Amino acid sequence: MLYKLFALFGLSLILVACTTHPPAPPPIPKDPALDLKNTPLPKKLPIPVQGIQAQQLSDTWGASRGQGRLHEGIDIMAPRGTKVLSATEGVIADLRNNNLGGKVIWILGPSSSWHYYAHLDAQRSDLKVGDYVRRGEHIGFVGNTGNAQATAPHLHYGIYLQGKGRGAVNPFLYLR
Ligand SMILES: [Zn+2]
Repeated sequence: MLYKLFALFGLSLILVACTTHPPAPPPIPKDPALDLKNTPLPKKLPIPVQGIQAQQLSDTWGASRGQGRLHEGIDIMAPRGTKVLSATEGVIADLRNNNLGGKVIWILGPSSSWHYYAHLDAQRSDLKVGDYVRRGEHIGFVGNTGNAQATAPHLHYGIYLQGKGRGAVNPFLYLR
């Protein structure tokens, strides 16, 4: 009799277990790079150097840089080691040094815009190609590496709308 009761109890437990709903499947993770493509580049971007206000910026777009080169970006003066913050969300696309920029970061941002941060003292040490960064996220430190070695530390920030290093637009217009 007792055995039968236990068997019945066990059976009812199994029945209850079978009739409760299975847990919902986890949401399918979205590819942030795909979302980025369909996100417009905001007309106004945050200043990518911590503590710098719009009134402190000067428009250095188009200034001559010798050998026929024109300045394709904005120089934001700040003490060495000041945090550089991403002006947009995006994917870290390239972290390789180059002669002109020194230590640099390329970020592929909204609407396939490219964002170039140069003359860094250092990149954030854990940053890797393929990492997704949020707008305002810390990515590096102001310095004067590359061809800025003879000038005061500053961030060179460039925005390109037609590809990596192609279709430069004046960042000052986005930051003021
Ligand atoms: Zn510059």
